[in-house]
Amino acid sequence: SIGAAMVTAVAQRLASQRRKVDERLLAFKLSIEQLRLVKATMRAGLEAGLKMKGSSAVKMLPSYVCRTPDGKECGKYLALDLGGTNFRVLLVKFRKGLQPRSRLYHKIYTIPQEIMQGTGEDLFDHIVDCISDFLEYMGIKNVRLPAGFTFSFPCEQTALDTGMLVSWTKGYKATDCEGHNVVSMLREAIKRRNEFDLDIAALINDTVGTMMSCAYEDPQCEIGLIAGTGTNLCYMEEVKNIEKLEQKKKMEREKMCINTEWGGLGDDGSLDHIITSYDVEVDQNSINSGKQRFEKLTSGMYLGEVVRQVLLDLTRGGLLFKGNVTEPLKKPGIFETKFLSQIESDHLALLQVRSILQGLGLDSTSDDSIIVKEVCEVVSRRAAQLCGAGMAAVVDKIRENRGLDHLNITVGVDGALYKLHPHFSGVLRETAKVLAPQCVVTFLPSEEGSGKGAALITAVSCRQHLNHEV
Ligand code: BGC
Ligand code: MG
Repeated sequence: SIGAAMVTAVAQRLASQRRKVDERLLAFKLSIEQLRLVKATMRAGLEAGLKMKGSSAVKMLPSYVCRTPDGKECGKYLALDLGGTNFRVLLVKFRKGLQPRSRLYHKIYTIPQEIMQGTGEDLFDHIVDCISDFLEYMGIKNVRLPAGFTFSFPCEQTALDTGMLVSWTKGYKATDCEGHNVVSMLREAIKRRNEFDLDIAALINDTVGTMMSCAYEDPQCEIGLIAGTGTNLCYMEEVKNIEKLEQKKKMEREKMCINTEWGGLGDDGSLDHIITSYDVEVDQNSINSGKQRFEKLTSGMYLGEVVRQVLLDLTRGGLLFKGNVTEPLKKPGIFETKFLSQIESDHLALLQVRSILQGLGLDSTSDDSIIVKEVCEVVSRRAAQLCGAGMAAVVDKIRENRGLDHLNITVGVDGALYKLHPHFSGVLRETAKVLAPQCVVTFLPSEEGSGKGAALITAVSCRQHLNHEV
């Protein structure tokens, strides 16, 4: 009958559309062989970075942090934490004893985009404004406290309290900072204000702070991971393997924490075999095109943009939103990480997905909402798998460093993608397990990680009166 023929035609059209959607999403589905290759590429990146001074895709920056905490830390410290989206000031108190304890007070300040992308002087003046507000609030403006500065960007350090910004990442591009010592910039801004004094004892990457704060609870913690706005990892490396470190700096040290800056993997083209046309688009629209290619596949600042590029392509191909490319879809940044986390929640009914989309100004059918959810899933799953492959490379390297058949190790972790996304942490763990079967990796989410860690590092450095290392 004519009716049956029509039904068949509709069914065929739907099936063919579905095939076209699947074809596009296939690019995000990585085989185990591809993941093994990413692990090997990461491993090669780690090795190359330890040899080379200067430019290698994975920078492998020495941190001058040479041991994890031992619970004997005590006293009051200030921690200054400039991260992906805000600036936090913390006052941390440590008490040693049978059960070492810490207490902290903190305040969060947002950094407006015009400050992130204005002049370096304005950025540091703004930071000092926030510190001043906090000291005022706590009533401690006239005490000269030792402070640790957590600065979540790649810095080429020459001592614990000295480091030059290599290049901005994430949303930052303030002028006259790259190539400069950021601790000096902070000290100068404090001097300009001429209202309080601080003793800045340490410059710390957020990964290092996270590792240290978790190591305070668990001595097996020798890796720090951030999966948030940006992505990065640090770990304890044998000093003898850090070829690029000058001989005199190697003396009397066994280990040093290396800030890998693994987000730069692929900047030399080594990830081109997995990069999709959508990733190319995201990279080209970013403020640091060609840089941080691994980060752009795996971190919160970019995943929503990858999703948006896929949705745009599907819509242009008439496979989504009735083929209407509406204004909201054209708007960079509308899909925040929190959106992915919500959409992918297992407890959400399709109707709720549709209402989330509605909230962003996107009218959808049930079929549309199914597709959007699938797009989010393949993009965030790939991100977690890639981080897992990177993690496998790191733990296997540590295992081999120690000549072990089996390694038990703990990773201190922070970042919204890890902590708030419903599936990211599980897929990351599973992938690391499959790709590094000789290692048992425990993930320990950090509480106030980077700030508390900075205070710990400052505490140790002050105790030793060395100020050059921890
Ligand atoms: C930075 C790293 C940082 C990471 C997580 C990256 O963009 O280059 O230094 O650790 O973000 O915040
Ligand atoms: Mg942070």
